[in-house]
Amino acid sequence: MLNIGCHLSSSKGFYNMGKEALKINANTFQFFTRNPRGSKAKNIDENDINKLLKLMNENNFTKILAHAPYTLNCASADNKIREFAFMTMEDDLKRMEYIPGNMYNFHPGSHVGQGKEKGIELISDVLNNILKEEQTTTILLETMSGKGTEIGKNFKELKAIIDNVNLSHKIGICFDTCHMYDAGYDIVNNLDNALEEFNSIIGIDKLKAIHINDSKNPFGSHKDRHEKIGMGYIGLEAFKRIINHPLLRKLPFYLETPNELSGYAYEIELLKRNYN
Ligand code: FE
Ligand code: FE
Ligand code: ZN
Repeated sequence: MLNIGCHLSSSKGFYNMGKEALKINANTFQFFTRNPRGSKAKNIDENDINKLLKLMNENNFTKILAHAPYTLNCASADNKIREFAFMTMEDDLKRMEYIPGNMYNFHPGSHVGQGKEKGIELISDVLNNILKEEQTTTILLETMSGKGTEIGKNFKELKAIIDNVNLSHKIGICFDTCHMYDAGYDIVNNLDNALEEFNSIIGIDKLKAIHINDSKNPFGSHKDRHEKIGMGYIGLEAFKRIINHPLLRKLPFYLETPNELSGYAYEIELLKRNYN
């Protein structure tokens, strides 16, 4: 069975996201932990969360994925901006323990001219300060397109972050197909090459989730503009190979394509139909 869901709005609570996922035949979903601008998160509603956990259990959901606000920058040159990222992520991870055993994805950050070595060091510092041995959440570093001074556009940078983290068994990787294609990994013509490189640098066991998005821009553009599945430069044939690949087919896939719920329902149906 294809494990698939999409990004959902968390504004109506956790149980509502579970119901929306069921409506579109998904068995997982992704959500922002708070408004992407990084404002204060809503109070935890344990009743709402318990209803979601029951729904997930009864409907054989796979792990759900929380996404940190994309405006955070753990690699900033400004102390206050790094401190804000740290406090937000620390608070998010405390909240994640109400839905134990799931995953939390974040964009590693942009070094803003300090150089990638410095950026990598700063990101690892934040992780070393927030990771706790007792936490049940796996933290995922997302592969990035490399726009501006983004860190995480290649596997070596991600590996360098992981190597600097003490509790590195709490860390995993989330592929984003649009970002990887834009970053210069040719997952259309040579998926095996990209996976072999990932396996030799980081190890395939670290790959925990995939953001499945087409790209509005051509290979290597470093742009990061998501497109609907089959409507961009990656194309449906490549997505068929991605979801069916022996190393990827059991992973959870999360759509972040420009869609309303009905568009997501269509893409989930399309991908399921092409899953063998
Ligand atoms: Fe992201
Ligand atoms: Fe993504
Ligand atoms: Zn993106």
